[in-house]
Amino acid sequence: MGADARAIELRRNLLTVEARLAQACAGVGRRRDELTLIAVTKTFPVDDVVRLARLGVRDIGENRDQEAAAKAADLTDAGLRWHFVGQLQVNKCRSVAQYASAVHSVDRLRLVDALARAADAADRVIDVFVQVDLDGEPTRGGAPAAFVPELAGRIASTSRLHLVGVMTVPPLHADARAAFDRLATISADLRREHPEAAAISAGMSRDLEVAVAAGATHVRIGTALLGGRPRVVR
Ligand SMILES: *Cc1c(COP(=O)(O)O)cnc(C)c1O
Repeated sequence: MGADARAIELRRNLLTVEARLAQACAGVGRRRDELTLIAVTKTFPVDDVVRLARLGVRDIGENRDQEAAAKAADLTDAGLRWHFVGQLQVNKCRSVAQYASAVHSVDRLRLVDALARAADAADRVIDVFVQVDLDGEPTRGGAPAAFVPELAGRIASTSRLHLVGVMTVPPLHADARAAFDRLATISADLRREHPEAAAISAGMSRDLEVAVAAGATHVRIGTALLGGRPRVVR
């Protein structure tokens, strides 16, 4: 597929996603500008990020440091905000802190400490979401809901990490509405202690309407924008 055909395809996909967001907002009396659309470009080439940027997309999501770091290094002057949405290892924090504006997947105290040190070394401030695990399935990452207050307190006590809210990846076959409603409750509990931490990162290609209805402020959209991904073997 030529570069122009791909640009046209991405444009069409973006229009479709924007129409879904507009309809979802209208359905529950919310405004589109309450939402940040994050284009999750993992496995797709940096040229697709450039094409999306030309279409006005500014928030880019990635889930592997190696890939994200390379893309961010190629596009340092593009004015993009890089969101790290994948499971993060302590030994990747130094790298992630160089380019990430936001990390959506902070789920343990050791990670808070490592990311805070890395942000300090990079002389940057990073927005942090506490990732919540709603069903005890370890492969997607996330902290149990009961642990959110302690993690949030630790994040808020640092000068380099800015506690912005909560995130979840719902179980694949779960009822997304029930999952996002629970996340909304966890968010409300968090805001009693940290009123500024009002962001809710929830909603992917298949369930963005449900997420918007449940109060999401950040939707992370891959497939609906970029197309299907090959199965990644790691
Ligand atoms: C890949 C990914 C997404 C995007 O998923 P789609 O179903 O392709 O929209 C969102 N969030 C996280 C954490 C991801 O890893």
